[in-house]
Amino acid sequence: MSDHETVPADVEHEDEIPADHPRYADLVTRHRIERGVEKGITHLQGMHAEGRGSAFDYLLGEETIPSADAAERAAAAHLLLADDPVLSINGNVAALVAAEVVDLAEAVDADLEVNLFNRTPERVRAIADHLREHGAAEVKGIEADARIPGLDHERAKVDADGIYDADVVVVPLEDGDRAEALDEMGKTEIVIDLNPLSRSPRVADVPIVDNVIRAVPNITAHAEELADEDETALRGIVDAFDAEAALEAAEERIRTGG
Ligand code: ATP
Repeated sequence: MSDHETVPADVEHEDEIPADHPRYADLVTRHRIERGVEKGITHLQGMHAEGRGSAFDYLLGEETIPSADAAERAAAAHLLLADDPVLSINGNVAALVAAEVVDLAEAVDADLEVNLFNRTPERVRAIADHLREHGAAEVKGIEADARIPGLDHERAKVDADGIYDADVVVVPLEDGDRAEALDEMGKTEIVIDLNPLSRSPRVADVPIVDNVIRAVPNITAHAEELADEDETALRGIVDAFDAEAALEAAEERIRTGG
């Protein structure tokens, strides 16, 4: 029996979670989602999503596997090539990686847009405030003056000069219907999702099967490293990426550990 089993389930601050705990990353993640729910940022359903993600991450070995790193590099190249890139932010993403999405937006000159499955004006505002507290200069998605075709009214709301107009969108933990609808709009879609069998990564141009906590800073690191590359080099990275192979590699790791 390890001493760590005495870690309280309900810590006040994540600093109280011992960094050498074998389940450290998972405990921090859970803690941030709980705080997100308390702050009105994360919907209760976000906790279930987190639970599903956590199980897949456990099976992946809670690390960025090589195919995910390749996907994160391809994502960085897409974002650097894009004219109007947008990072879509929901309640789980805001709770888990607010500062990190602000850094990524800066590195690739992308907009941040609040885009919620369970949309209420209060949650949109709470998330926008939270992003601003973490350094975001501008946050889109408040006006929501355009609609994604093929979805019902509430689920379809986006900004005309944000996701609606974007050529490249990063959609972490996106719902399958909306991922499909964005794909039908012809967007280049970068999906971050720990379940390689979920519909969202399967319609993505770049499926990233990795925890959003590791994926977002790693895309930023690749973008910073690739910042001075010319268009031909970036296109080379984009063209060499094989989405199907990345999904297969992730599924193989989850099923066999190999
Ligand atoms: P579908 O996309 O087919 O509708 P679903 O209903 O399981 O699948 P949602 O509940 O809409 O999906 O979204 C949750 C998804 O996000 C799950 O696939 C889960 O594995 C993933 N997920 C949860 N937490 C994280 C995380 N921290 N990083 C990356 N992915 C995560």
